[in-house]
Amino acid sequence: MKIAMFDTHRYDREAFEEANVRFGHELSFLEPRLTKETATLASGHPAVCSFVNDKLDLDALQALRAGGTRLVALRSAGYNHVDLAAAARLGLPVVRVPEYSPYAVAEHAVALVLALNRKIHRAHARVREWNFSLDGLVGFDLHGKTVGVVGTGRIGRVAARIFQGFGCRLLGYDFRPDQGLAAELGLTYVELPELFRQADIVSLHVPLTPATHHVIDAAALASMKPGVLVVNTSRGALIDSRALIKALKSGHVAGAGLDVYEEEEGIFFQDLSGKVLQDDVLARLLSFPNVLITAHQAFLTKEALANIAQVTLANISAFEKGQPLENEVRAEEVLRPR
Ligand code: NAD
Repeated sequence: MKIAMFDTHRYDREAFEEANVRFGHELSFLEPRLTKETATLASGHPAVCSFVNDKLDLDALQALRAGGTRLVALRSAGYNHVDLAAAARLGLPVVRVPEYSPYAVAEHAVALVLALNRKIHRAHARVREWNFSLDGLVGFDLHGKTVGVVGTGRIGRVAARIFQGFGCRLLGYDFRPDQGLAAELGLTYVELPELFRQADIVSLHVPLTPATHHVIDAAALASMKPGVLVVNTSRGALIDSRALIKALKSGHVAGAGLDVYEEEEGIFFQDLSGKVLQDDVLARLLSFPNVLITAHQAFLTKEALANIAQVTLANISAFEKGQPLENEVRAEEVLRPR
């Protein structure tokens, strides 16, 4: 099947070309993000493959449909960038990769905590300048600290296991608590305000939905322990960035590790060096010595890329053969409590 692959980079091309040896689809690698303006590039392709910073709103989906697209294949787990109700009305099934490597994302979250706490980014910059002073690099033992895991799904539970290995005390919040996991890890489920009140480190692993939008806002930040570390490897809009900046300026929040940012579209995945950064909120965040930002790279391991390519191409083959779409995302299933 002809597949228009949007927002692709060299690592996508390599992983998809390798996996496609088994599937034999016709892959068109496109650099632009998929938006209503670029959707016509998919004309004549029955399948489009899109990534997290594409914008599949009603206009984009209509343009895809008019160009002959019949399937939207997301090469991501998250689907907050797709108007699922509009896709359903247009008769465009949407498939995704529900799980490709929870380890990749959880390990990155922990990497951010370790680097932030022990100030590895600053130490690295210092010694490269032959500045071997240790002033200002004091961290804390993770052992015995309380980690609040917000969302104990596939990724959150892996992160919880890793933190348990450090000897941390675990608190969890999820509207679908898993008592088996709680027993296995000694994790205690609490309500969100309690988690914020007690945690030394808060790590976000819920998807972005209307219910979780700005789940960390000014009030949530104010309720956290002074000196808390906040880590977000899930979706940018879980955190109110302006409120976070205020809490960092006051010193209430001791550090933030961010792999995602609420306005990352058009910035992350691009080389903008040499350009003037137009986003003042991101520029302010980047100015803090105790903020560590990576550009949505938590998924970026060899294993995850290979799994993403394999499952995406299998999803498309299933559609082509008229088989049931086990990884279809339906509007009515968008997360609600069980
Ligand atoms: P998952 O569906 O396995 O787990 C999410 C958990 O959140 C579930 O246990 C669910 O019950 C819980 N949840 C959902 N809404 C909730 C709410 N309103 N209140 C309380 N709990 C709620 O998902 P996952 O595979 O663990 O992925 C989590 C998120 O990580 C994804 O949605 C995606 O946004 C993000 N992600 C980021 C990257 C990256 O590269 N940075 C890569 C993959 C996934």
